[in-house]
Amino acid sequence: MTKRSLHWFRDDLRLADNPALCWAAESETVYCVYILDEGSSRRPLGGASRWWLSRSLDSLSAALARKGGRLDVLRGDPAILLPTFAEATAVERVTWNRRYDAASIALDMQLKERLSETGIEVRSFNGSLLNDPWQITSRVGQPMKLFTPYWRAARERGEPAPALPAPARIPAAVRPVSLENEILGLEELALEPTKPDWAGSLRQSWTPGEDGARKRLDNFLGESLGGYAEGRDRPDRLSTSRLSPHLRFGEISPRQIWHALGIARETGEAAGTAADADKFLSELGWREFSYHLLFHNPALATRNYDERYDSFPWRPDAVALRRWQAGQTGFPLVDAGMRELWTTGWMHNRVRMVVASFLIKHLLQDWRAGEAWFWDTLVDADPANNAASWQWVAGSGVDAAPYFRIFNPVTQGETHDPDGSYIRRWVPELAKLSSKDIHQPWRASPEAQREAGVRIGETYPAPLIDLAFGRQRALAAFSTIRNR
Ligand SMILES: Cc1cc2nc3c(=O)[nH]c(=O)nc-3n(C[C@H](O)[C@H](O)[C@H](O)COP(=O)(O)OP(=O)(O)OC[C@H]3O[C@@H](n4cnc5c(N)ncnc54)[C@H](O)[C@@H]3O)c2cc1C
Repeated sequence: MTKRSLHWFRDDLRLADNPALCWAAESETVYCVYILDEGSSRRPLGGASRWWLSRSLDSLSAALARKGGRLDVLRGDPAILLPTFAEATAVERVTWNRRYDAASIALDMQLKERLSETGIEVRSFNGSLLNDPWQITSRVGQPMKLFTPYWRAARERGEPAPALPAPARIPAAVRPVSLENEILGLEELALEPTKPDWAGSLRQSWTPGEDGARKRLDNFLGESLGGYAEGRDRPDRLSTSRLSPHLRFGEISPRQIWHALGIARETGEAAGTAADADKFLSELGWREFSYHLLFHNPALATRNYDERYDSFPWRPDAVALRRWQAGQTGFPLVDAGMRELWTTGWMHNRVRMVVASFLIKHLLQDWRAGEAWFWDTLVDADPANNAASWQWVAGSGVDAAPYFRIFNPVTQGETHDPDGSYIRRWVPELAKLSSKDIHQPWRASPEAQREAGVRIGETYPAPLIDLAFGRQRALAAFSTIRNR
């Protein structure tokens, strides 16, 4: 039996179905480490993600302790710290689960070479996707550019392998005395906001960690899967799983979700039809496809996939951007979404599409400004999903929504939040308007406004732009690049 292994936790903050950890746990002792990497070429985490990470590490640390293990937390450059700790703890194996952004891939290659030179066996695993991004190709071996054939090819590979149970024991290795000063308490990472502490509503909304993820999955399967195929477009209902931040930090794996769904349907514990289950799995498929895109297009978050967009006539406008960020555009569905995001670190998918379209098309702001705001404020800010989705809405991405598909925030509200209850929740100053008026309060009669206590331009902003004008301007802007 191998004596000593080191497992490097990254975006896999769980014990169950963690293939790299399971391999490490075959040894007599496992040195478990997390390294907060703030100075390298990886994109720094946004504020909401930092909060989530802190809570998730806390939960992981407690779970490891229950198995006889320990999590040591470090801050610095993994290219230096990992070999230093591997040597100081005299481990024979080092292991991790793969990440797929370009900076991580380069780092992993560098580390594999460096550690192998010193005789350490290094193994990486796929712990976060149903398929590694390179496993699905077109018939001629090329990257896929359309979701439907991608997902069909993925499904043709059959069921994923069964999920692994958590190791029975994860015996802690002795700490290297010479490096004790490098090991930090979680609070020393200063991941959580203090001055001011804006995370109160995040604490109320979420339970980061593996147990929280599992509970959320069970609740979703038992209560919300029924009707998901249609209900997932309704922000006024609790109809989606809200598993995205748990998936982002690897507190649950798609393989676990896949099999839990199958078992719950077999035993009758999951409400819902085959169509609901298939639709839900296909959303996991979009996540897989986004990672496929990121792997093959490392600059997905910064460069237009469609190069014609490099000359798009954006109209940078700091005031408009600020009003969008603050949920003060005067369009109730947009403002509700942006305030939900600011308060809870999450926004419903339908509303994400509407607010993104409004920023890019009606306001002609570069999609990267929106991507950056989401990156900072979402608890599920994800290097693949966020970038791919913003490019999808902009029309600059792969398999993207065509540019002329411009969401009208009023009709989107009427369709997907018909009685306005989502808007009432997040834009309380409009709560007393009727279900008809609430989607375009500036059109409400003076009497209806007075009765609801709404004064446009005073208690609630006047519309930032005329929608018809914004739409025509967007189409004209697009026509300047269309034929290039
Ligand atoms: C502009 C924009 C930005 C986005 N940024 C992110 C992001 O940073 N992180 C993120 O995880 N998702 C992002 N999404 C995708 C989607 O909105 C969220 O994954 C979804 O709202 C999460 O809620 P849920 O867990 O309840 O989803 P469910 O409907 O329950 O879906 C289950 C899981 O499937 C995945 N998924 C669902 N929809 C998508 C999608 N369209 N693309 C990729 N994966 C999907 C998620 O991992 C999700 O947790 C973005 C979408 C848009 C339009």
